[in-house]
Amino acid sequence: MHEVALAQSIVEIVREQARRDHVRSVKAVHLRIGALANVEPEALSFGFDAAAKGTLVEGAALAIERTPGAAFCGACGKDVAVESRLDLCPSCGSAQLLITGGEELRVTELEVT
Ligand SMILES: [Zn+2]
Repeated sequence: MHEVALAQSIVEIVREQARRDHVRSVKAVHLRIGALANVEPEALSFGFDAAAKGTLVEGAALAIERTPGAAFCGACGKDVAVESRLDLCPSCGSAQLLITGGEELRVTELEVT
């Protein structure tokens, strides 16, 4: 389950930023996760709580925003929306899709006290 490792690095990023900003505790962490990032939000959330334990991030809520997957079709030349990497072009049925969006995973905002 790579979500555990991911959650640990997110907590690390948040702690680093909180230290820099002299924050006492973190209320919420906003995350943006692309539909194609291969991350299970529930598993990430669980890992986050565990990784945050005993740090100033403990008890912070994880607010996850999902962004859709996007791809460019090499066969018909259209920009299309996709749900997974295995999707075919919804317009022409081709498998020649180049993923152009929805792979990101980043911390977008911290709510602090
Ligand atoms: Zn196409």
